[in-house]
Amino acid sequence: MSKGEPRPETPKHRNTETLRPMPKDFLQDVQDQYDVIVIGSGLAGLTTANVLARQGRSVLLLEQHYKLGGMATWFKRPGGHIFDISLHGFPYGMIKSCRRYWSREIADSIVPLRNIRFDNPMFSLTTEFHRDDFTRLLIERFQVEPQAVQKFFDAARHMNFYDDQQTTTRELFDRFFPGREDVIRLLMEPITYANGSTLEDPAISYGIVFSNFMSKGVFTFQGGTDKLIGLMQKELVASGVEVRIHCDVTKIDCRGGKVRGVEVNGRSIRTGVVVSNANLHATLFHLVGPDYFDRKFVEEARAVRLNNSSTQVYMALKPGETIDESTGDLLFSSTAPRFQTDLLLSRDITSRTYSFYYPRIRPEGRQRYLIVSSTNANFEDWAHLPQDQYETSKKDLVTTTLDALEKYVPNVRSRLAYVEAATPRTFQHYTRHVQGASFGTKFEGLAVSRALPEQLPGLYHAGSVGIIMSGWLGAMNYGVIVANEVDSHLLTESSGR
Ligand SMILES: Cc1cc2nc3c(=O)[nH]c(=O)nc-3n(C[C@H](O)[C@H](O)[C@H](O)COP(=O)(O)OP(=O)(O)OC[C@H]3O[C@@H](n4cnc5c(N)ncnc54)[C@H](O)[C@@H]3O)c2cc1C
Repeated sequence: MSKGEPRPETPKHRNTETLRPMPKDFLQDVQDQYDVIVIGSGLAGLTTANVLARQGRSVLLLEQHYKLGGMATWFKRPGGHIFDISLHGFPYGMIKSCRRYWSREIADSIVPLRNIRFDNPMFSLTTEFHRDDFTRLLIERFQVEPQAVQKFFDAARHMNFYDDQQTTTRELFDRFFPGREDVIRLLMEPITYANGSTLEDPAISYGIVFSNFMSKGVFTFQGGTDKLIGLMQKELVASGVEVRIHCDVTKIDCRGGKVRGVEVNGRSIRTGVVVSNANLHATLFHLVGPDYFDRKFVEEARAVRLNNSSTQVYMALKPGETIDESTGDLLFSSTAPRFQTDLLLSRDITSRTYSFYYPRIRPEGRQRYLIVSSTNANFEDWAHLPQDQYETSKKDLVTTTLDALEKYVPNVRSRLAYVEAATPRTFQHYTRHVQGASFGTKFEGLAVSRALPEQLPGLYHAGSVGIIMSGWLGAMNYGVIVANEVDSHLLTESSGR
């Protein structure tokens, strides 16, 4: 852990009765063989494990970190503050997925965010971020022809994965809103923030994600990520998944061209099926190794681009300090005169997205107000800084963020009890995501991820790839798809076909 990164919490199971630390066997009582081993407990890994165990498979879930959740995580700080990393907003579809593949209790904790704000040199507005409200805004505020608005929404909604992948998002916008940079900013800025996609990415990936949000707006999990992952952990146990943390898988054994098992904490465990929730590149090139795949496939896999990473600043208000809810739940702020995706990634930050956590959303006993500022970032801008420059840059990130936030939360500095920053290095450190990629890989990663079992029978990948299969909903749904494929594979194997 590099200095200044969030500190791990003290594990609850620490043995306090003996002074000499005993090496703990995190694989104690684990069997020698399972139907399926899932590597990683991100939302995709957790969901795959739960679905397969409910289908009657014996499942071992191995997580290298000391807690479950992957990027869906949180950390605690003195004063009882709990900060969420990636709980900023997801589409309505999460309710259905959680109800079907997890539990009613989880689904019932999902609530809408009503105040989504935009503030930039082109416009300032508040919206509920769904089709009706966007239609109203586009017609009344942006003076767009009603027919163009309707046709745009219909075109976006009817896009599906098998459609034309050549048209870019820029071309889609130009078709309906030629020359309207302000309209493009309204429609694109939140999605770019959400997953780093650009105007040059395929229009279908924009259309699918945008339409998911437009169906009913933006939602969050009441109670925070810690509550969600706690409930999921309870479900996994009820479904019969063997869950182990502190278990770093170092190798997927593929001798003879098929999956045979994994190596973890110095032990070999046998299985015919591995689902890796680790980063796609890490799965192929570190856990398996390129020699097990066709040369052409390896080239395709190497060409898969990683998504960008993020920086974040976490802030907690002093007891008794409040923020009016009209400040917004999510606030997309920018000082850039025009919308440009490269500006969103620049170290010279012009765009910040603030998430405000009110006591209603995160009830934790006493009234707490938290703010998380997020910015897309390039790993390379942070990766090689010497330690002193790294620390200075983090301090600078905090200072400039507080300066920017002053506009929305006056006197913020004197009202804060706690502030801390995270960088792409922090995300890489905790989730092992290559280059701290917040949303896995770009679009082309999906085809590579899907083709793995053809290359190596029994090897599957479920985790953030592309825009559609990433984020909380995308990762979870991809976990379900892969679980069903694994189940069919196991049925075929057992019937001897
Ligand atoms: C700053 C930030 C903000 C975000 N905001 C949002 C948002 O508002 N809405 C939204 O929908 N999404 C958001 N996301 C994205 C979302 O959190 C991710 O897309 C999603 O959680 C990824 O899930 P995943 O299943 O792909 O796996 P990950 O979360 O990447 O988890 C992979 C897991 O595998 C484990 N692992 C890796 N290698 C090994 C190994 N060798 N052995 C054992 N375990 C291993 C890791 O420790 C990790 O737990 C955000 C992400 C970030 C970083």
